[in-house]
Amino acid sequence: MKGRNLLMVPGPIEFEPAVLAAMAEPTTSHVAADFIEVFGQALERTRRVFLSQDGQPFVVAGSGTLAMDMAGANLVEPGDRVLVVNTGYFGDRFGALLERYGAVVAHLRAPVGSRPSLEAIEAELSREDYKLVTVTQVDTSTGVLADVAGVARLARQHGALCVVDGVCSVAGEELRMSAWGVDVAFSASQKAIGVPPGLALLVAGPRALAAFRARVTPVSNYYADWSHWLPIMEAYEARRPAYFGTPPVNLVAALNVSLGRILDEGMEERFGRHRVLAAACRAGIKALRLTQVPRADNFAAHTMTAPRYPESISAANFLSFAHEAGVILAGGLHPDIRNQYFRIGHMGPNTVGDVLATIGAVETGLARAGYRLERGVGLAAAARAAAEE
Ligand code: PMP
Repeated sequence: MKGRNLLMVPGPIEFEPAVLAAMAEPTTSHVAADFIEVFGQALERTRRVFLSQDGQPFVVAGSGTLAMDMAGANLVEPGDRVLVVNTGYFGDRFGALLERYGAVVAHLRAPVGSRPSLEAIEAELSREDYKLVTVTQVDTSTGVLADVAGVARLARQHGALCVVDGVCSVAGEELRMSAWGVDVAFSASQKAIGVPPGLALLVAGPRALAAFRARVTPVSNYYADWSHWLPIMEAYEARRPAYFGTPPVNLVAALNVSLGRILDEGMEERFGRHRVLAAACRAGIKALRLTQVPRADNFAAHTMTAPRYPESISAANFLSFAHEAGVILAGGLHPDIRNQYFRIGHMGPNTVGDVLATIGAVETGLARAGYRLERGVGLAAAARAAAEE
């Protein structure tokens, strides 16, 4: 479409026309029979997309930070110890949020672009008794992918609940709540879930709900309190009307369409497609002699790429040149390296064609910013990698 740019930031992403069309349907009552059916289906599909067999889904109006808040408000009581497996900006945010609810937070950090080893996590869990271990599956500020299966296993061995921030990963990265023993995972609509911003999604497993029910202090956040939302989610799934706060009717309709498309593709196929997108993007970037923030490919995300600028390229110029070439990219977010890198999102409905268009715009942006490169080498490498995956 002329005049339209390709949105390749790590959320919000490019949304499918069918999802946007569902949002534009006339708004119905939140207790109308057809909406009850749509919301009920969306909750069932949420559980399936999170690969949870017995988790309780919560879908609530708000951004991803509300989903973090729901986890913190409902699971933490003053004095509880929490270990934050921290790989960037969103680990810091989670720690600060948990402290608001009275948690005693310990951060396990690694140098920027790296991740704490399972050995270090194990040692810390052996040293101290933690109620929760939180981990950001993909920290959007670094593009580092955590070993969620490994962290969840260790948390369980040490009697702690494992809470996963999946905002930049769910429906793109492999995440198996039940098989891996993840107790809570949450996300937001605007990334690989494929729906415009405005929905917080969370699935709480049986151990998390038991910990919530065993609280001795009341939840100190009124809106996020699961005692308000649990009966609502249960009612809609049982196809009964219920009210606590008016659900965002149009967004829920769009969510149901998007989750349906995700499940039609199939979770395994979807994980595989994200691996192809990541391989293509990374091959393109490497062929342009750019390094990336994650220090090793085996823990670089598949939903986004975080390339470092070559020396002497100005962030502001590069991003506006890439935009003029038709692709919107994101600047840096991690405070320690903010101007040293940029971010490319490749998730949800994105295709290899979108990645090729992006690498083309990166080449144009770099060339216009004064970087010496042979035009087309990034594109050729990306196309080759996509074909080989
Ligand atoms: N966690 C992660 C990993 C994120 O990427 C984001 C958003 N970029 C959030 C939490 C917060 O989500 P939101 O901006 O929707 O509040």
